[in-house]
This record gives sequence, structure tokens and C-alpha cells, in this order.
Amino acid sequence: MRLAIVSDIHGNLEALDTVLADLDRRKPDAIFCLGDFVGYGASPNECIVKLRPRIEAAVMGNHDHAAIGLTALEGFNHEAARAARWTADELTREHHEYLRALPMTLPWRGAVMVHATPSEPEAWHYVLSPAEADFEMKYFEGPLCFIGHSHYPGTFMAHGSRSLYTRQPKLTLDPEGRYLVNVGSVGQPRDGDPRAAYLMWDDQRRELEHVRLAYDIEGAAARIRKAGLPAFLAERLKWGE
Ligand code: ZN
Repeated sequence: MRLAIVSDIHGNLEALDTVLADLDRRKPDAIFCLGDFVGYGASPNECIVKLRPRIEAAVMGNHDHAAIGLTALEGFNHEAARAARWTADELTREHHEYLRALPMTLPWRGAVMVHATPSEPEAWHYVLSPAEADFEMKYFEGPLCFIGHSHYPGTFMAHGSRSLYTRQPKLTLDPEGRYLVNVGSVGQPRDGDPRAAYLMWDDQRRELEHVRLAYDIEGAAARIRKAGLPAFLAERLKWGE
């Protein structure tokens, strides 16, 4: 099957619309969302309205968790905390309930799906290095775990005691291999490439494709400024950092 995995939309309607239009063309058999529907961006409700009917299932992200009041905001930086409070005020009751019901982790199509890490989903750790990936490899069964959270698309492959890392956009998976795959962020890429990111996965052919799409960054940034959210959150979209 041809599957699509999106993550870290962060209330960015312009980026989400562009990704959904691309998915209209590619017509995957199913779509999964790895969380962070909201937070930072100015269109939290609109993003849930558009994405929810398109996905088969989803897990919770740390910004979803914060927006429904389950996270103490002391751990957030100033801009993220302001955005989380703003998002909490904006969210409709229905969307609050929707986010609240999301699980922390789910098995999907033979893979493990989790926003941050399989070892401790609710601790919201990041997997940024091969050493961190080695540690996380012990905490899931089977060949594949898909994550988001860092907004850095890329793939760690188990390799003896030291995972290998690649940012290759297209990859064919070894049938014997084990992988931890970060699908990147739709609404706030941080790898220096400001284009929206998501992942296509063909589970029969064992192929991964990290898709990047230019979108209306100015439109998303203008919406953030108009909402009175921190200007930094509008600026960083242009840098992709
Ligand atoms: Zn995120």
C-alpha cells in the first residue's frame, strides 16, 4: 500500500493546504498524523477541520498536550508558552475533546507510531543523534518506528551498536533492517529548508520518500502577526529554523 505520514502541522493552514493538495494528486491508501496539530501557528481549528477527515488515525504531540492544558508551560520557551496559551483559548470545545482523546502511541500497518520517542512518549525527548537512536531502537518491536517532534526529516538505521543516519530523500528499506524514521514537519520545518515536509511510505516495496513542497509562507506569517502571536514565530517560517 501507498501510505502517507504527516506530523507537526502546528496550526499552519497554508502549509497544510499545500500538503493536502499534493496528497489529492498522489492518492495514498491511508494517511496517519504523528501529532502537533496545533501550537505556534494561527489556524489551529482550521487545521483540525481539514486534516481530521483525511487521516485514518493519529497520536498526540506535546503541543496538543499543552493546548488542552495537560502540560505545565514552564518547560516551554517564552514564544511557545504564549502560543500555547493563545491556542488553548482559540480551540473549540469539540477540538479540545478530539485532541484529548488522542493516544500517545499506536501500532499502524506493522509500524510503531509515536510523536517523540518510543521509550518514553510522554517525556517528549528528542532523537537527534545516532546514540539517541540506538537507545530508542530497544524500545520498539518490529522493523519500523515513525516519529516527528524534532522537525528534522531523516532516517536512523540500526547497525550493530551504532545507528547510521541519512537525510537521503528517497530510500529503499532492507528487509532485515530496523529503522527509526523522522517524517519532518508540515508547518514549521527546522532543517534549514523552509518547505513543508511529509513522508510517503510504500510498505510492499519498502520505499520511503521525504516530500518537500514550497507553500505560501508569507500568508502563514501574516496570519501569525495578525493574530498577535510572537513575531518570531512568523519570521522563523521563512528561515526554516
Ligand atoms: Zn512540533
